[in-house]
Amino acid sequence: MTPANFDFHCHSTASDGLLSPGDVARRAAANGVDCWALTDHDTLGGLPEAAEAAGECSLAFVPGVEISIEWRATPIHIVGLAFSAANPALAGGLDALRLGRSERAKRMGEALAAIGIPGVYEGALQYVTNPDLISRAHFARYLVSIGIAREVSSVFQHYLTPGKPGYVDHRWATLEEATGWIHAAGGVAVIAHPGRYKLSGGDTRRLLDDFKALGGQGIEVVSGSHSPDHVLHFARLARHYAFHASRGSDFHGPEESHVDLGRVAQLPLDLKPVWRLFL
Ligand code: AMP
Ligand code: MN
Ligand code: MN
Ligand code: MN
Repeated sequence: MTPANFDFHCHSTASDGLLSPGDVARRAAANGVDCWALTDHDTLGGLPEAAEAAGECSLAFVPGVEISIEWRATPIHIVGLAFSAANPALAGGLDALRLGRSERAKRMGEALAAIGIPGVYEGALQYVTNPDLISRAHFARYLVSIGIAREVSSVFQHYLTPGKPGYVDHRWATLEEATGWIHAAGGVAVIAHPGRYKLSGGDTRRLLDDFKALGGQGIEVVSGSHSPDHVLHFARLARHYAFHASRGSDFHGPEESHVDLGRVAQLPLDLKPVWRLFL
């Protein structure tokens, strides 16, 4: 039997994706996804449209979110799955996080003006599709449009990552807050794309220890951002910590993502898939 094709990590125009929540649902169904979660950054705003469109194309739908946190000064993402979207602890925590994003974006604009690229905050706003959610991806798209670089990934490399002129420090949520909000809403917390963080082996284990101690249950083993070696490595850690394993493309849009919805490797067969916790 072919394992179920689940994709529990992707974005829509409710955050920094390029397709509407309904279009992401229809694309997932067309790609053969059986069970799908929309996980926009720090917002639940796309979930009603996503749920409705998924229902229309017989796609099993799981509410999701990707929460921005800071752990020991490193930005980390925590995916929340299968929670009650009406829960005030989760919704209220995310409201506060989004307010911080706008203030950070203005500081990014000032930092870029200081190196002779003015008007980038205002320019990035032209790419924002949810006025409440501005991300570095919107800055990158605007900087490409004015010819600063040929593609989004090189804008990140030269301007928008730590140590580069457009990067500003920011206080995100804490690991305790993010896992607490997800658990208060009855959901499952998952460490997103662990292979993307610049953490040593020891710090990765400290992060997983802290996450486990807070009741965290899942880890993304298969991700659009992971290499085959990452999959082997994080599968070993999933076994060691007895975490459930998640799988997600981190799709943002056809023009920008090299991995499409549902088109990632299957999970190693011996791992416990995260959907067993809620389906
Ligand atoms: P933010 O949450 O505002 O810090 O922005 C993070 C978002 O920027 C990610 O979710 C991606 O959409 C995008 N991003 C981060 N790093 C890169 C990269 N190296 N290349 C392309 N997009 C990136
Ligand atoms: Mn993004
Ligand atoms: Mn992420
Ligand atoms: Mn993501």
